[in-house]
Amino acid sequence: MQINRGFRVEFNSALGPYKGGLRFHPSVYLGIVKFLGFEQIFKNALTGMPIGGGKGGSDFDPRGRSDAEVMRFCRSFMTELYRHIGEYTDVPAGDIGVGGREIGYLFGQYKRITNRYESGVLTGKGISWGGSLVRPEATGFGTVIFTQEMLKTRGTSFDGQRVVVSGSGNVAINAIAKAQSLGATVVACSDSSGYIMDEAGIDVGLLREVKEVERGRLKDYAVRRPGVSYVDGGSVWDVDATVALPCATQNELDGGAAARLVRGGLLAVGEGANMPSTRDAVAVFQEAGVLFGPGKAANAGGVATSALEMQQNASRDSWSFEHTEERLTDIMVGIHHRCAATADEYGEPGNYVLGANIGGFAKVAEAMLAQGLI
Ligand code: NDP
Repeated sequence: MQINRGFRVEFNSALGPYKGGLRFHPSVYLGIVKFLGFEQIFKNALTGMPIGGGKGGSDFDPRGRSDAEVMRFCRSFMTELYRHIGEYTDVPAGDIGVGGREIGYLFGQYKRITNRYESGVLTGKGISWGGSLVRPEATGFGTVIFTQEMLKTRGTSFDGQRVVVSGSGNVAINAIAKAQSLGATVVACSDSSGYIMDEAGIDVGLLREVKEVERGRLKDYAVRRPGVSYVDGGSVWDVDATVALPCATQNELDGGAAARLVRGGLLAVGEGANMPSTRDAVAVFQEAGVLFGPGKAANAGGVATSALEMQQNASRDSWSFEHTEERLTDIMVGIHHRCAATADEYGEPGNYVLGANIGGFAKVAEAMLAQGLI
C-alpha cells in the first residue's frame, strides 16, 4: 500500500475551460500547483486561444517505477479527478513526469469510469487516439521560435549561436532539436544529476534514444559518444554561451548563475520551463540588456498546441505536421508581437516580462468584467 497526495487547482475560466498540466514529482505540494496555475492563466491568455488556467499533479515519483506501477497510480489518481474535469470544464495535460504513457493510462481510466470517449478531456494524447501532431515538440519548438523573434529585434538569429540548455526532458530535447535546425550549436544540457559538454553539438538522435526510448540518464549519453564529458553534480550555467534556454524546472537559475552567464557573453534567454529564473536572475539579465523571454510567453507553444488538439477533437479531424507547425509558428510570432507591443505601449520597449504580464492580465480582466465576475 502506498499513499500519495493529488491536487487540481482550477484558477480561472474567464476565457475558456480550465487548462494546464499535471505534474508527478516528489516535490509537488499545493503551493507549487497554485503558482503554476496562476501563471497558466496569463500564459493561456497570451496564446489568443479560448482557454482558462489551472494546474494539477501529485507527489508521486514515477522514476524507477514499472509501467504497471505507473498505470496503477494513474488509475487511482483519475478515480478521484474524473468528477472535476471534462471538455467544457477542465482539460488537464502533461507536465514534468507526465508524458504520453501517463496521459494514456489516465484517459483509459476516465473512459472506463464515465463510459464516454471524450477525446477533449485530456490533451497530449497518442496520435492514433485523438492526439495532435507537433504536440510533443511544441513547447521546445515554440521556445526557440519565440527566442528567434527576440533575436531578430537585434538583427540576428539562431544561426551560429552557441547555446546551453538545462534539462533533458520533453521541452529540452525539442528545444535542442529546433535550435540546431536553425543553425545553432547546442554544446551542453543537463539532468538533475549533472550535465554533458558536447562541443560538436548535441546528437539529438542519440539523446532521444537514451532519454525517451531507454529512459536512461545523461551519463549514458556521454559513455556512448566520443569527445563528450559528463560533469557529475555540476551546473550547466557554468558553460559560456550566447543563448541560454532553461528547460528543466522552477528556480534553477539564480542571480549568481545569471551574472556568470552575462560575463560569458550572453545575448538572450528563452525560458522553456516555468519560472526557471529567480527574481535576482531576471534583474541581472535585464540590467545587462540581455533579451529575456519569460516562460509564460516563451513556453506557451505547448498549451497553444493543446488548444489546437482540442480543436481537432471537436471537429473529429487531424491535421498534418506541416499545417500544425505553421499554426504553432504563427501563434508564437503573435505572442512575441503582443508582448513587444504592450511593452512599447507602457513605455518600456524590449521588456518582455512587463509585456507578457500586462498583455495576459488585461485580456483576462476584460473578460471577467464583461462576464460580471468581479
Ligand atoms: P520532463 O519531466 O520531460 O523533463 C524535466 C527535465 O528537468 C529532466 O531532464 C529532469 O531531470 C530535469 N529536472 C526536473 N526537476 C529538476 C530539478 N529539481 N533540478 C534539476 N533538474 C530537474 O518535463 P518537461 O520537459 O515536460 O518540463 C520541463 C519544464 O517545462 C517544467 O518547468 C514544465 O512545467 C515546463 N513546461 C512544460 C511543458 C510541456 O509541454 N511539457 C509546457 C510548458 C512548460 P531528471 O530526469 O534528472 O529528473
